Amino acid sequence: TVQRLQPFASTIFAEMTALAVRHDAINLGQGFPDTDGPASMLDTARQAIADGLNQYPPGPGMPVLRQAVAADRLARYGLDHDPDSEVLITVGATEAISAAILGLVEPGEEVVLIEPYYDSYAASVALAGAVRRSVPLARAGTKFVVDLDALSAAITPKTRMLVINTPHNPTGTVFTPDEIAAVAELACEHDLLVLSDEVYEHLVFDGRTHTALATLPGMYERTVSVSSAAKTFNVTGWKIGWACGPAELIDAVRTAKQYMSFVGGGPFQPAVAHALSHEQQWVKELRDSLQAKRDVLYDALVASGLEVHSGGGTYYLCADITAIGERDGIDFCRTLPERIGVAAVPVSVFTDHPQPWNPLVRFAFCKQDHVLEEAARRLRTLG
Ligand code: PMP
Ligand code: GLN
Repeated sequence: TVQRLQPFASTIFAEMTALAVRHDAINLGQGFPDTDGPASMLDTARQAIADGLNQYPPGPGMPVLRQAVAADRLARYGLDHDPDSEVLITVGATEAISAAILGLVEPGEEVVLIEPYYDSYAASVALAGAVRRSVPLARAGTKFVVDLDALSAAITPKTRMLVINTPHNPTGTVFTPDEIAAVAELACEHDLLVLSDEVYEHLVFDGRTHTALATLPGMYERTVSVSSAAKTFNVTGWKIGWACGPAELIDAVRTAKQYMSFVGGGPFQPAVAHALSHEQQWVKELRDSLQAKRDVLYDALVASGLEVHSGGGTYYLCADITAIGERDGIDFCRTLPERIGVAAVPVSVFTDHPQPWNPLVRFAFCKQDHVLEEAARRLRTLG
């Protein structure tokens, strides 16, 4: 393995999922749902295969999907993307993220991350030969907030890009409109590109709304917005994602993407297009059901004696294990599957400054009710 990739030899998701399998534990570590997406979407995919849509789709993605993504962003955010030049279909959000960094950041330039961060950001920055500067979220009681002073201090003349993710993995935080506006102002002031990872855009609870970064003043022209079908339609294995933004930026993402995978997921593209156009009610029901699951897990974690944090969106809740006499989330997660038959992931592995994050553990609640109830029962035995 080349030196710049050596710190990334294995992912926490692979490690904890393997442990869950070994101990037949309920896997609340890796975030994936255990039910299928809308039936009409699955039927459309089956039909696409039967109709022979099994060869390379067009490089930027099938027009029907690019149009559906553009129409969806226009309807929900008022953003008017040209489907031909401002929407690119990718192999999951993961490829969109890597291709955006590879296509837009020169080796040696700096990328600012907010930690804890989704693990592929740091690896993608390393792949690009760029330098990451990570700024911790601040803790305000059981909430996480963007530390604007620290963010501002991390920006140097070499900074090219800022990566922001809301709703936020792993903490489950939905950043407030004020926080997002302040981040946008900073990006404009320093003339930075912004990679906005919005894969959980639909999964916001308790009446919150998602703020798409590109809608803020001065942001459209500097933002690559990334999302995917994985979390919106329960198809994490389909790997249909997209990047949207001004033509010049999307062209750079496309340039990198075409040599990574060229294309992907042919018959799934019309299926996701169908879902975006016809299954918004299904998405609303998904959001409501996830909010209820969040509550079940929240109660179980509190009953087990843990201090639970945030919880405004996504698939995840974070809990502090200090209250039950534990200190190290990595040790805790390595033994939890054997101990009580539940897997989780430690938050500190998503950071460059692990110390303050050591006692935090992330639990996913995107599971069927009976699975979650059983996990809740097992978690309560901790307390
Ligand atoms: N960003 C975040 C914040 C995620 O949680 C995930 C999925 N776990 C991804 C990107 C990757 O999305 P995809 O599965 O569409 O590649
Ligand atoms: N997005 C999911 C999570 O954060 C899964 C990521 C993965 O398996 N790479 O848990």
